[in-house]
Amino acid sequence: MKIAVAGFQHETNRFSPVQTSCQDFVQEDGWPGLTQGRKLWDVFLEANIPLGGFLQYAKQHFDAVPILWASAEPAGLVHDDAFDQITDMILEGLQAAMPLDGIYLDLHGAMVCQSYEDGEGEFLRRLRNRLGNEIPIAVSLDLHANVTPESVALADVMTIYRTYPHIDMADTGYRAGALLRQIIATGQKPHCAFRQLPFLIPLPDQCTNLEPARTLYEKLPLEHDLETGSADIALGFPASDIAQMGPAIVAYDYSKKNARQRADQLEQALLDAESSFNMPIYRTKEAVRLALQRGPQKRPIILADAQDVSGAGSMSDSTELLEELARVGIRNCAVGAIYDKEVVKIAHSLGVGAEFSCELGDNFSGPEQAGFQGRFRVVALSDGMFEYHGEMMSGITAKIGPTAALELVHDTAEIQIVVTSERIQLLDQAIMSHIGIKPEEKSYLAIKSVVHFRADFDSIADEIIIVEARGFSPCRFREGLFPHLRKGVRLL
Ligand SMILES: [Zn+2]
Repeated sequence: MKIAVAGFQHETNRFSPVQTSCQDFVQEDGWPGLTQGRKLWDVFLEANIPLGGFLQYAKQHFDAVPILWASAEPAGLVHDDAFDQITDMILEGLQAAMPLDGIYLDLHGAMVCQSYEDGEGEFLRRLRNRLGNEIPIAVSLDLHANVTPESVALADVMTIYRTYPHIDMADTGYRAGALLRQIIATGQKPHCAFRQLPFLIPLPDQCTNLEPARTLYEKLPLEHDLETGSADIALGFPASDIAQMGPAIVAYDYSKKNARQRADQLEQALLDAESSFNMPIYRTKEAVRLALQRGPQKRPIILADAQDVSGAGSMSDSTELLEELARVGIRNCAVGAIYDKEVVKIAHSLGVGAEFSCELGDNFSGPEQAGFQGRFRVVALSDGMFEYHGEMMSGITAKIGPTAALELVHDTAEIQIVVTSERIQLLDQAIMSHIGIKPEEKSYLAIKSVVHFRADFDSIADEIIIVEARGFSPCRFREGLFPHLRKGVRLL
């Protein structure tokens, strides 16, 4: 079976002040840059990325033709020209590889372009226009996909991550491989039952290590078999602010009746769980007060700066939490990662041991909002190249560019800060430890991540407190926040 393999990933946040250009897809960030042809084997085979898992499956069962993979760090709307160019490159590659028995696509599911709310739907529409409706297409999606009726109709089978933190990205690509092989071997496409839920779930509540999501995901079938049925749940990405967003269910089965039954059962389970998605989230002052009340303990107390996370399309440069930590004179605390290119440049030009005063962060928070004014000592510098070792990112080499560890020069507070020249979600201890900050030795950690950090930090954390500070990825919803959302969807 000759199968073409491609990937095009973006999680779009309509509240972000920065749009997404072609260059953002080309360059490396926390993830690999745009990769083409046979190089996909070298870059992805061992990585916890869906395309890597698919290649693992393909190695045993398919003659795989790798075309292209590209992703950009989550941010604002994808420029039409970036979308057109990358789509064209993939479509040309697919056409050149014809005849094919099938296609595998590693997509995210929450891409929004300037002209198309449903980026994946438009991508699949163009692919079908070019290559026809017959060729089997398997798609893997992120748990944060906003799965739309259009994209479900255009793909033959979809698999979706079942974990958040996403430790099963490669597994999800592998499952897509098994289902695609069955479709080709039998010459039969499955029935799909699709359900959209009438409420939005905030990101902190979507964590699958915690209830109610943990139990919901345990209800999914483990077999990769369309005779017995395959099903998945996406929990949606609210910051995309599109009409069709929110949680959704896809159930595939060679029996139409069974697909519907499975989808109905999962839909009911999600509806029953609605009121249990109620994780507390605290305003900054309250969160810091709670942390001080509890600590210091033997292990770090973690404050998750959940609304300013680059991995959800925010700028990772808000200093509201840092300001409060300094104000209360917190001790033995590390903060990261704050995105500020200019400050990293100053630190690298002065060198380790130097002291300087500057305004840190909040370069994108609007003209009214100043950053954190302080004096800093340069503790360590790095070129931002290191290996991740947490469960989620293992197998990937980070290339995040020049990075600095700074210490706040302050009468009472003892705070070390990781400052980066790219927007990086602090989802792996290595982002701190590679530059000499030992997170496990800190009393307090202020981390710019919603949930992903749990994959590598849960084991060292005493307690986790979710903070509602300034940022562009809202975790607390209010009426009117999502102007593009279809009518009748409840905000939890
Ligand atoms: Zn995700």
